[in-house]
Amino acid sequence: MTSKTLNQFLNSNLQQLKQNGLYNEIDTVQGANGPTIHIHDKEFINLSSNNYLGLATDERLKIAAMEAVEVYGVGSGAVRTINGTLDLHEKLEENLAQFKGTEAAIAYQSGFNCNMAAISAVMDDQDIILSDALNHASIIDGCRLSKATIIPFAHSDMDDLRKKAKEAADSGKYKKIMIITDGVFSMDGDIAKLPDIVEIAEERNIITYVDDAHGSGVTGNGFGTVKHFGLQESIDFQIGTLSKAIGVVGGYVAGKKNLINWLKARSRPFLFSTAVSPADAAASIKALDLLINSTELNKKLWGNGNYLKQGLRKLGFDIGKSETPITPCIIGEEKITQEFSRRLYDEGVYAKSIVFPTVPKGTGRVRNMPTAAHTKEMLDKTLSAYEKVGKEMGLL
Ligand code: PMP
Repeated sequence: MTSKTLNQFLNSNLQQLKQNGLYNEIDTVQGANGPTIHIHDKEFINLSSNNYLGLATDERLKIAAMEAVEVYGVGSGAVRTINGTLDLHEKLEENLAQFKGTEAAIAYQSGFNCNMAAISAVMDDQDIILSDALNHASIIDGCRLSKATIIPFAHSDMDDLRKKAKEAADSGKYKKIMIITDGVFSMDGDIAKLPDIVEIAEERNIITYVDDAHGSGVTGNGFGTVKHFGLQESIDFQIGTLSKAIGVVGGYVAGKKNLINWLKARSRPFLFSTAVSPADAAASIKALDLLINSTELNKKLWGNGNYLKQGLRKLGFDIGKSETPITPCIIGEEKITQEFSRRLYDEGVYAKSIVFPTVPKGTGRVRNMPTAAHTKEMLDKTLSAYEKVGKEMGLL
């Protein structure tokens, strides 16, 4: 019998979420998550996935995955430190280090897991973390798990960071100080000010940690935000995910050999959870080979991103301060933003609304994630839908 306490807890909280409009109804995608998707048997232009380079459905990755299944089967068999380290995992880590321009890399099961693993393996209750206020949930949880003191700094506000770094260092209370930031912020598409962060860190011997989940495959000709600024030698932790531009699943840290050796010895998801499957590893290896050897997909992504941005701007929409293909269309009031997204849906465009509390009140936006796989025709259809809905709702 289900516990009465649990039932009361669940029912009252679920009801409250629904009343406050915070309960997320999950759409089921029928078939592949490509530039178009099917939901409820209807086809949509898909502007809501992180499949930036279209690799999630790429034939070359599919073949690599299928070949790996033939040779290795479907599971890795054990955790990495027992006998679950297949040669595929090691090849993946070599490719990741090459991709990121570092001495070594360690692969995890997801980007989320990677942040839980890496922060808490290095930071503890005698340390302090300065964390950008808009950092991803997995960074926040990773920081909490470490038991370090966490001090948020205002989003990309280098004066605030400088002040807080000085206070932390001058207090003499902490053994280690770390600055953590996303490389690209996924709500606005803006890029972290890494040169300033490195300067602040170097003044006070601070550890630097960049989660470039949305930058890898995108910025720096695809090599990421650290490369974009030429800072490979200055950033201690380069974090990434294999689930967005790489198109598969998994996460990683790239850095110096001693850091990676430490994470292999001490990070708990590496020690106690089985690695990604052979098919995932092989598909990721293939994706990295493609990105290391050609910038073609990356160029296509930026071309499509710029085309959509220009089109929306020309129509008179506010696309915020994006510096990457992530294109928010700022509508403002929450209900109007949600209605806008719903009407785009009716027009066959799947672009999600993002509203408070995910973004500040009054800055609701429809977020568009164009990819290398979208055609000009799809983007033109999207722009026509935006124009129609914008006019119907009196926003243009
Ligand atoms: N870090 C950042 C900055 C992210 O945006 C995300 C995904 N939303 C993650 C980590 C988690 O990555 P994954 O989906 O691979 O767990």
